[in-house]
Amino acid sequence: MDFSVSSEQREIIEAIKRFATRELNQDVISRDKDQIFDRKLWDKCGEMGLTGLAIDSEYGGMGYDAVTTSMALEAFGYGCHDNGLVFSVCAHLLACTVPINKHGSQKQKNEILPDLCSGKYIAVNAMTEPDTGSNPFAMKSTAKAVEGGYLLNGTKIFSTNGPIADIALVYAMTDKDKGFHGGISAFLVKSDTPGFEVGQKFEKMGLRTSPIGELVFNDVFVPADAMLGAVGGGARIFSESMDWERACLVSAHVGTMQRLLEGAISYARTRVQGGQAIGKNQAVSHRLASMRTRIEASRLMALSAAWALENSRMASINASMTKLFISEAYQQTAMDNLQIYGGNGFMVECEHERYVRDSTGCTIYSGTSDIQRNIIAGWLGL
Ligand SMILES: Cc1cc2nc3c(=O)[nH]c(=O)nc-3n(C[C@H](O)[C@H](O)[C@H](O)COP(=O)(O)OP(=O)(O)OC[C@H]3O[C@@H](n4cnc5c(N)ncnc54)[C@H](O)[C@@H]3O)c2cc1C
Repeated sequence: MDFSVSSEQREIIEAIKRFATRELNQDVISRDKDQIFDRKLWDKCGEMGLTGLAIDSEYGGMGYDAVTTSMALEAFGYGCHDNGLVFSVCAHLLACTVPINKHGSQKQKNEILPDLCSGKYIAVNAMTEPDTGSNPFAMKSTAKAVEGGYLLNGTKIFSTNGPIADIALVYAMTDKDKGFHGGISAFLVKSDTPGFEVGQKFEKMGLRTSPIGELVFNDVFVPADAMLGAVGGGARIFSESMDWERACLVSAHVGTMQRLLEGAISYARTRVQGGQAIGKNQAVSHRLASMRTRIEASRLMALSAAWALENSRMASINASMTKLFISEAYQQTAMDNLQIYGGNGFMVECEHERYVRDSTGCTIYSGTSDIQRNIIAGWLGL
């Protein structure tokens, strides 16, 4: 594995950092407070290609491999202070658009991918249900075969982008006897399909600019060609989409941690207490040293996990280890960063408390840290 950055990748990284820093950071504090998703900013991300990074260029994507996608997302997280917007773009790209690119029929790809890549359409991944989060094997949503297609029934919750999405990637049981593996199928459902409604919208502790909600399916008819992949192939599509989300979404957090570190070093050099810069105190400098070390390990894990997505049969364990490590590193880094700013860190205006709230979500979405440990233990034969 060679993760040296090519001149082309360097240009991509610098262009995304410049774009995000210049275009995406206005009014973040008030948008976070009022839970406002800014469609104009989303559209700008679409124009920049962020909504289609890893998608084949013939469908309007940037055609990047997974490692370049990881580098691009790190640059996005570095430049963009709106962590909710970053999260919404990543959920759209990694858990919805990538699976369509990989498993879609020619017709599905021709019809849907260009609008997903440009950002005209927003996508939502709908797996979690009120009673089945960590254990999606027990899902209750059903897709019953009828003349010409399927009738979808069920309720999904905590669906990122749900309240604003144009298209949903929905998982439902097509054969209860077969269970999760072989009994679940994936469907692409337009949000204006009769019987498909957005239910409750949730207020979140963090990532507040990323809308999240409940999706209700009441006898929603979907034609047979709306199925993504084969009948019963939903579990495989879902697992692979989680590998991509776990491996690549956290790259954005690496970029965010890097930006926090640079700001904290500068503050530690200039904030004076007791006649010296606070960074002269070992308690502060060691915190910064730990932050730097976590970022180094995180970046290498993210690149390695991205590489594994396309080159290794160990992609799933790599993705889980990477998601586990970086989400906890991000949470710790956000806490350390806040402490370095003292009282200022606790004030909303200084923007540091937001990272503590936002980073906490990372240890829950795409499977909690406990679940990542379960998956890793499973690979160890336990
Ligand atoms: C910000 C955010 C965005 C999300 N976006 C989406 C989305 O776009 N689409 C979607 O489908 N879902 C989404 N989710 C849902 C997310 O995947 C689930 O919340 C998560 O998988 C946990 O499920 P749960 O909330 O039902 O908790 P539970 O499964 O009820 O777990 C509760 C606690 O028990 C622990 N636990 C449960 N089972 C085990 C076990 N077997 N071993 C050890 N510990 C266990 C968990 O770790 C946790 O601490 C999102 C969640 C959040 C917070």
